Amino acid sequence: MTDIWQTALCDLKAKVSAHNFDAWFRNIRFHHQQDLTVYLEVSDDFFKAWIEDNYLDLIEDALRSTTGARIEVVIDVEGAFDAISEAFDAVIDLEERPVAARMARIARVSQDDTQGSLFPERVELVPLGGAEIGANPVIRATLSREEELQRRIQAAGLNPRYTFEEYVVGPSNQFTHAACAAVASKPAQSYNPLFVFGGVGLGKTHLLQAVGIEILRNNPAARVLNLSSEHFMNQLITSLRNKDMNSFRMQFRNNCDVLLVDDIQFIGGKDSTQEEFFHTFNALHQGGKQIVVTSDKPPKELPGIEERLASRFAWGLIADIQPPEIETRLAILEKKAEADGISLSKEVGMLLASSIRTNVRELEGTLIRLGAQALLVGSPLTLDFARQMLKRMHVEQGRQVNVEQIIRVVAAHFDLKAADIKGARRTRNISEPRQIAMYLARKHTSDSFPELGRKFGGKDHTTVLAACRKIEGLVQDEDDQLIALIDELEALLIR
Ligand code: ADP
Ligand code: MG
Repeated sequence: MTDIWQTALCDLKAKVSAHNFDAWFRNIRFHHQQDLTVYLEVSDDFFKAWIEDNYLDLIEDALRSTTGARIEVVIDVEGAFDAISEAFDAVIDLEERPVAARMARIARVSQDDTQGSLFPERVELVPLGGAEIGANPVIRATLSREEELQRRIQAAGLNPRYTFEEYVVGPSNQFTHAACAAVASKPAQSYNPLFVFGGVGLGKTHLLQAVGIEILRNNPAARVLNLSSEHFMNQLITSLRNKDMNSFRMQFRNNCDVLLVDDIQFIGGKDSTQEEFFHTFNALHQGGKQIVVTSDKPPKELPGIEERLASRFAWGLIADIQPPEIETRLAILEKKAEADGISLSKEVGMLLASSIRTNVRELEGTLIRLGAQALLVGSPLTLDFARQMLKRMHVEQGRQVNVEQIIRVVAAHFDLKAADIKGARRTRNISEPRQIAMYLARKHTSDSFPELGRKFGGKDHTTVLAACRKIEGLVQDEDDQLIALIDELEALLIR
């Protein structure tokens, strides 16, 4: 009965923002209910994955409170359940349909997997250069699958480092990341064009290229072309000068399955480039080829871009990237440090993440400079060293944390007063938060133990020392709950 779904929808509408409701829930259709399982349909795989990852619990809760029963939800793309029913009706009793639905889903997934075998394990290629090798037709270079893939990635104008695996996902880029992943797994079938916009150094180029790399991984025969709009313009100018427009058009309109154009804003006001790009766009789009474009602004705000082109950009999906939150900045730093073999302490990570807030390229660049300088002078990358270096690099340092702030944040978290932390009472509900505050103060300020003792209400330095040792010991013993608590408090301190 669709009634229960309608009631659940009303419930959901009250729980999510109007924007999210329109974006995700309007698309869901009730298909049928079998016992305690409700089957819902959505338009495509991207929606399915997104809703399963983000809203399944919420939907189940809504259905459970509507019906008072432990409803479970199965979501699939339109038509999937019908196909399943047809296939299984003949042999399977109606009672078993939920199981049948799941089995059919598994069958569909494994069918998709076989598409990967388009690309054989090893590819034999006749080398292009090398006189001796070329002269001997018997000698053939056998490239491994990975080497061949890397060759194709580079030939497409892609940086092999810009993969989805290397991209850190957080709330600021989650939506765009998901859209890019959807396009990469089903080019020209999900969003076409995909238009990605956002500020400088936020990872647009990285995501754009990740799409190209992923498509090549799934299908190495795909003709992927990645270039900036400036590069497009330069090639156009050269072709016009050489009176060779045919090969230009062949390249972009006929010999391309996936066109990735970075920084489209540069063609604003360049009329003949726009004209040519417009026709390229139309030819590719009509031919069912995928187009992904990045820009620093949304289409309608791009200066000097013709209306007809701007409106085509809005045909598919427009997705933006926002500056990353503190947790994402920390995660990015950790990932880059690991990739570059820099040993980065939590304190230095926090200093960098709180000092450089709006540009990931700068964040990454600063980390690498600090790592290189530490290596050069043979010093570990300590908090003091990092502070000095940032000062020399004229990087304005994020709000420096002081003992008062730490006491306030910790007290507020435990529903205590700052005076309790500084006071002398030693009941467990006060002494534990106090020890944590002392540990954080030691870690994030350069105050000595006696100074900290004074700032914690005139305590002996041995008290501070003992508190720090105790918490350090628990952290080293991987007390998960405590570690999570410290992470949370640290994020509050540098936000
Ligand atoms: P944009 O094109 O938006 O100016 P880039 O894609 O060139 O930015 O990103 C700048 C640098 O920051 C690149 O080295 C990229 O790998 C890195 N970067 C940006 N965002 C992320 C992220 N979310 N995860 C990992 N690295 C990122
Ligand atoms: Mg870029």
